[in-house]
Amino acid sequence: MKSAFNETLYDAYSQEFTVDKVYFEQKTDHQHLIIFENAKFGRVMALDGIVQTTEGDEFIYHEMMTHVPLLAHGNAKRVLIIGGGDGGILREVCKHGSVEHITQVEIDLQVVEMCKKYLPNHSAGAYDDPRVNIVIDDGANYVRQSDEQFDVIITDSTDPIGPGDVLFTSDYYQHCKARLREGGVMVAQNGVAFMQIDEVFTTAQRMQPYFTDQTFYCAAVPTYVGGVMTFAWASNNDVLRTFSTGDLVERFKQSAIPCRYYSPAIHQASFALPQYVIDELESGLDQ
Ligand code: SAM
Repeated sequence: MKSAFNETLYDAYSQEFTVDKVYFEQKTDHQHLIIFENAKFGRVMALDGIVQTTEGDEFIYHEMMTHVPLLAHGNAKRVLIIGGGDGGILREVCKHGSVEHITQVEIDLQVVEMCKKYLPNHSAGAYDDPRVNIVIDDGANYVRQSDEQFDVIITDSTDPIGPGDVLFTSDYYQHCKARLREGGVMVAQNGVAFMQIDEVFTTAQRMQPYFTDQTFYCAAVPTYVGGVMTFAWASNNDVLRTFSTGDLVERFKQSAIPCRYYSPAIHQASFALPQYVIDELESGLDQ
């Protein structure tokens, strides 16, 4: 009888993966970490019972969290990644030739080490890129204490449960603004809208005091169950979302980055939000 992994993110609803093999399972200093084999999605990594990434569908999330802000910016030299211990975001950022320096701040060294070992295709050698500087720290602590400045900040965190909770606060967003160079942009993992609609509202409420252009874009990632997931977008450069598809096509061609999900058309379309998300934002924020 094969064992099963039941995700524990929601009370009344869950997804189950058959587990063909467990590569690693341990309580780290910060969270419970498991990496296992599933016949449909390949290797799966979960933290505190919540699916973080799978070999099968990781490309969707990592391409959208990386190429949308970087191609919108168009000339990012310094990038900050908060979280992202599996290395998927880092791999995609390293594909941008214009980027000269990447700092990644990950709270859990064991996630980095175990993902390098058991999910090698996620980072695909990116941790050895000479542009990369890995900091093991709480991301909220880093943005508060650092005086570094970045063109793009990507918050690739867990859900607002446990160590990830501090990365969904006003204080964190305020300090991210302080870390952004003139014209910069921050994006952040913001949950599956249909299942976590309150996260959309609270993120908007907490980001909007610090950013003039705050919205969301979305993509459906199969193992983030419940429909489209939202990515929070925050910038004080209102030009970044005005580029035409033609502009993005040119930049994407220049980048020569092979993608399996991202395209300039998808980039543009991803900012079109479902009406129920718009209604939630308009009703909640007007109060
Ligand atoms: N794609 C996933 C998702 O959408 O849920 C996120 C994947 S990534 C593995 C999440 C990372 O955030 C983990 O490596 C975790 O250790 C890290 N993390 C959680 N809280 C953090 C914090 N306060 N500072 C830095 N990293 C944090």
